[in-house]
Amino acid sequence: MNAPTHSPISPRALYDKLAPLDQSSYGLEACERYAEQIAQILRLKEERKAIVLAHNYQRPEIFEVADFVGDSLELARKAKEVRDADIIVFCGVHFMAETAKVVNPGRTVLIPDLRAGCSLADAVTAEALAERKAELKQIYPDLKVVAYVNCTADVKALCDACCTSANAVKVVNAIDSENVLFVPDQNLANYVQENTSKRIISWDGNCYVHHQITPAEVNKVKSSIPGIKVIAHPECRKDVLALADAVLSTSAMVNYARASEADKFLVVTECGLSDRLLMEIPEKHFYKACKLCRFMKMITLDGTLDSLRNLRYEVNLPDEVREGARRALERMLELSA
Ligand code: SF4
Repeated sequence: MNAPTHSPISPRALYDKLAPLDQSSYGLEACERYAEQIAQILRLKEERKAIVLAHNYQRPEIFEVADFVGDSLELARKAKEVRDADIIVFCGVHFMAETAKVVNPGRTVLIPDLRAGCSLADAVTAEALAERKAELKQIYPDLKVVAYVNCTADVKALCDACCTSANAVKVVNAIDSENVLFVPDQNLANYVQENTSKRIISWDGNCYVHHQITPAEVNKVKSSIPGIKVIAHPECRKDVLALADAVLSTSAMVNYARASEADKFLVVTECGLSDRLLMEIPEKHFYKACKLCRFMKMITLDGTLDSLRNLRYEVNLPDEVREGARRALERMLELSA
């Protein structure tokens, strides 16, 4: 664990590490720069009968063409509800687009850039999970496997239930086993372990974005800005979560900031969420962790335009994988209801 430091730092140094957001990304110049692409995307959406779903960590200009912005659970729910559109363009990472296909197999699901992966999803393969599960079943015959939704569909298909950061504790507490293999996020597994009496066996995976945030960085801001509220995502390390006023999923952060009496927040998650917060709650001040997810930022307006124009890149899944993943996702909804 890194030793926290409490020494105050100058506003300039603070800006280098944790930049307060201003209007420069959203001013007239930015609007003019993107106006033509945005207009073309809006036109093509109509022609193609397409809907754009965007994750909270997307670039702010993507929010302008999105029909819905949310966290992974909200996007999965939204994808399932799509009836009027033929095409779902998914502005997020690949496992999320797979989930859209799982919950709504009758629609064409497109992801604008196939390189939009995820370090967490890459941490576990179906083969490695099947092997570990078999080993652990020898020791814990009642073992159940819970998968954080940030994994591929073939991994989901091997699990008893999925969960999100918002319902992980609830799902683990509700599943009928005292021994749970939790994949792939070790930090979220640690957080769940602190909030359940069950035995959690974690996997050695992490989100490279959240895992790099340190207590020292958080403490610098806390000591420099009196009264600031720290809101952190459970994918962060345990020693970072210990400094938070609230540990929340990304969409819960938006609700918390809106409802809170405080007007200054340090948002300890991927930077894109701060963009959304600034756009939706402009009267409050948000300081961000300056940690970008390079996978999320691979989705651009150019890529989205190309995706709509050329109908690429289509996400498809073998039937048995789709069916297995659907079962694990539905179990999550039952257990967290
Ligand atoms: S922020 Fe982390 S968990 Fe989310 S897509 Fe990027 S690497 Fe994956």
